[in-house]
Amino acid sequence: NADIPKPVLEVIARLRELGHATYLVGGCVRDMVRQVHPKDFDVATSALPEEVQKAFRKVIPTGIQHGTVTVVTGGNHVEVTTFRSEGDYLDGRRPSSVSFERDIVKDLSRRDFTINAMAYNPLDKELVDPFGGQVDLPARLIKCVGSALERFSEDGLRPLRAVRFSAVLGFSLDPDTRDAIPATLAVFRKVALERVREELGKLLLSPRAEAGLQLLADTGLLEVFLPELARADAEAARLARVATQAAPLELDVRMATLLADLVTGPQARELCMRLKFPNKSADLVGLLIEHAKLETRFADPDPALRRLLARVGPAQLPALLAVAKARVQARAPEQLPALATLSERLESLVAAKPPLSAKELALTGGDIMSALGIGPSPKVGEATRYLVEAVLDDPSRNTADQLRALLTDWDRARST
Ligand code: ATP
Ligand code: MG
Repeated sequence: NADIPKPVLEVIARLRELGHATYLVGGCVRDMVRQVHPKDFDVATSALPEEVQKAFRKVIPTGIQHGTVTVVTGGNHVEVTTFRSEGDYLDGRRPSSVSFERDIVKDLSRRDFTINAMAYNPLDKELVDPFGGQVDLPARLIKCVGSALERFSEDGLRPLRAVRFSAVLGFSLDPDTRDAIPATLAVFRKVALERVREELGKLLLSPRAEAGLQLLADTGLLEVFLPELARADAEAARLARVATQAAPLELDVRMATLLADLVTGPQARELCMRLKFPNKSADLVGLLIEHAKLETRFADPDPALRRLLARVGPAQLPALLAVAKARVQARAPEQLPALATLSERLESLVAAKPPLSAKELALTGGDIMSALGIGPSPKVGEATRYLVEAVLDDPSRNTADQLRALLTDWDRARST
């Protein structure tokens, strides 16, 4: 119990005093049983949401209709959910109804996998484990609660969750659970893509992303939401998986690494939009892929590298270097030293803070207009671009005097 935060214990104790069966449930019980510190603690209770609200001074009705109330105790937030069972799933996505229950076993039986379907009462140190999660945990098995075919037909997300937990925990799929995946792909196809993306993100950020991606491919799940990868030839797909595993644990970096040699930047952007990634992530993944092939730039002179920095943005350089390194590590490790040299060059170029865009020029738009003796016109834009190119070639030219001299020459050359 040493792991359990005091506010969580207090909430459980209070509800129990009032006579409500109350337990820790789900991921935190799984993690405690396997002696890993849980990320968050979910409390489930027989008390109805209004009873939970009455039992505490400060509560937030987080998701009252699903039975979830957040209890606020001294700045801590504890999520408390009323025991639930679910009506039939008619569309493969959501139950047609949910009803509140008085019995913890009813609540546990709607949960996905045996290891996620245990409850623990820390006050009496009582573990409720009707489906054998305690056996499957040391056996390192992901196994559905009840019939895998039925459970996967109810909620099409579950097969992807099975693969995700397998990657995150390093567990195998129980044979029945595994075999039910190809058989229920039609249901998986109906799942909202944001839910898919959520699970894919957790899989990609797991230490066993490579094995997880392989399992996604082998079970047919990948073909449904990432045909670009599922249909790549075997060697290209293998390299993509190995590279992804080698990349740092950042979702955009891992997505870019996965896709860099399979699609173009704009295609990757579209693909991320399709999977409901935030626009910002889709843009970044596209940009990273656009410029990821740094092994083609080992011989680039400084001005070319400054142009690269101008396009990528110095803030994105660490991500770009991470993608490039993971790819090279997987595809051509002998090029790593040359890539390291290039990375250092790029980093020192950034450290020198060279002017990379119009706003860093020593002349403002107004200065440029008065130097040329003109008002706002397309010519100002042309002149500005000319100056930006000039300072990208040689940043030491970025002084007001030198830029004015350049402008005079440019204007003269242009009008003859
Ligand atoms: P994590 O550490 O990744 O958060 P978790 O087990 O807490 O793992 P969640 O996705 O947060 O996973 O879900 C919490 C619990 O809710 C699960 O342990 C499981 O019991 C139940 N659950 C979540 N999604 C489903 C689902 N689609 N079908 C059935 N049960 C589910
Ligand atoms: Mg969780």
